[in-house]
Amino acid sequence: MVKSGDAVLRGQLIGEAQGPISANVHSPVNGEVAGVYSIRLLSGALAEVVEIAPHAEQDWDSFVRIDAAEDVSETLRMGGIVGLGGAAFPSSVKLHSSHGKPIHTVIVNGCECEPYLTCDDRVMREWPERVVAGARILGAATGAKRVVIALENDKPEACEALLRHSRPDVEIVVLQARYPQGAEKQLIYSIIGEEVPHGRLPASVGVLVHNVGTAAAITDAVQLRKPLVERVVTVTGHVGEPANFLALIGTPISHLLAEAGGFTAEVSRIIAGGPMTGTAVANLDLPVVKGTSGLVALTNADLPPAVHADQPCIRCSRCVTACPMRLQPYAIGIHANRSDWEGIQRFVPLSCIECGCCETVCPTRRPLIQLIRRAKQVLMSKGVEA
Ligand code: SF4
Ligand code: SF4
Repeated sequence: MVKSGDAVLRGQLIGEAQGPISANVHSPVNGEVAGVYSIRLLSGALAEVVEIAPHAEQDWDSFVRIDAAEDVSETLRMGGIVGLGGAAFPSSVKLHSSHGKPIHTVIVNGCECEPYLTCDDRVMREWPERVVAGARILGAATGAKRVVIALENDKPEACEALLRHSRPDVEIVVLQARYPQGAEKQLIYSIIGEEVPHGRLPASVGVLVHNVGTAAAITDAVQLRKPLVERVVTVTGHVGEPANFLALIGTPISHLLAEAGGFTAEVSRIIAGGPMTGTAVANLDLPVVKGTSGLVALTNADLPPAVHADQPCIRCSRCVTACPMRLQPYAIGIHANRSDWEGIQRFVPLSCIECGCCETVCPTRRPLIQLIRRAKQVLMSKGVEA
């Protein structure tokens, strides 16, 4: 939407959504466009970026408001609101994922999606009223009878803050902290005691799940008509001052690491997201995007032993016991190794949530995640449905 040399304002639309699973992008600062070009993002996707040189002085309280709309979904679409738990799925699309089926329960997810990350905890502690308001907006928009904010029992301050600001129509449910409690399907089972069938969306059991950060952003979009231009990012591991930052979308990763005091050890890997499902950062100049929940600086000593593609499976079944989706990861791995894309289908690899538990417990360090991802890619490219 802009070209080099254009002046832009905080909140101004600079990139328009294209296609159904896409989201608008807004300038996080007042400044001038320094360039428009393509880069490979953390996800590996090639994307067009707008580089903005910010003005030295900024008015953080002012921003270009999105247009007024009657419909919540349209407001979220215009505001570029996406899931801030990490997946960055457009919230307006998610709101319609039930395709007319009734939603009886809205769950606002405050269970941190990964070890090391504390961004959801911080959001609930800092802005409980925005989280509660977002939960109520989602409840009203879907007609759900039950609205729940779920968090884990290792976040007592967040729980206290939410209880102080809660309303009678919003339940605060405290769950036992256990990875991967924050995964959508596990959380739904914990709250309503019902499993989402393989290959189906939460809406198939009448549930809609949104992250707490997303709920706060939804409140801003609906009440203030504020687009999504910033998010909370956990910066932790071997840095001087591990912290959560309210970071503008587009902030270089190197800047956040420096703000956290720089490295305090020989860091061998920086993971965007968390250590279980995150992505190694190859270039510190890359920007924070809407799905960047955390940056974790790790040394060799923190990392698990390397996986070995040629290690045999010893049929110990630890991966089966560990899998929260009750899959047979060893079997998926064996069939993927043989490129047996027919035989692999009865082990439903498309239901894998890529939580990393199987690979973590495997005593022979089989590269299970790599094999499962490959299987998923091949099956999806063949049009196989979950
Ligand atoms: S990553 Fe492994 S443990 Fe996790 S859901 Fe997939 S197969 Fe199961
Ligand atoms: S944990 Fe590893 S060795 Fe054990 S059954 Fe699973 S893939 Fe095989």
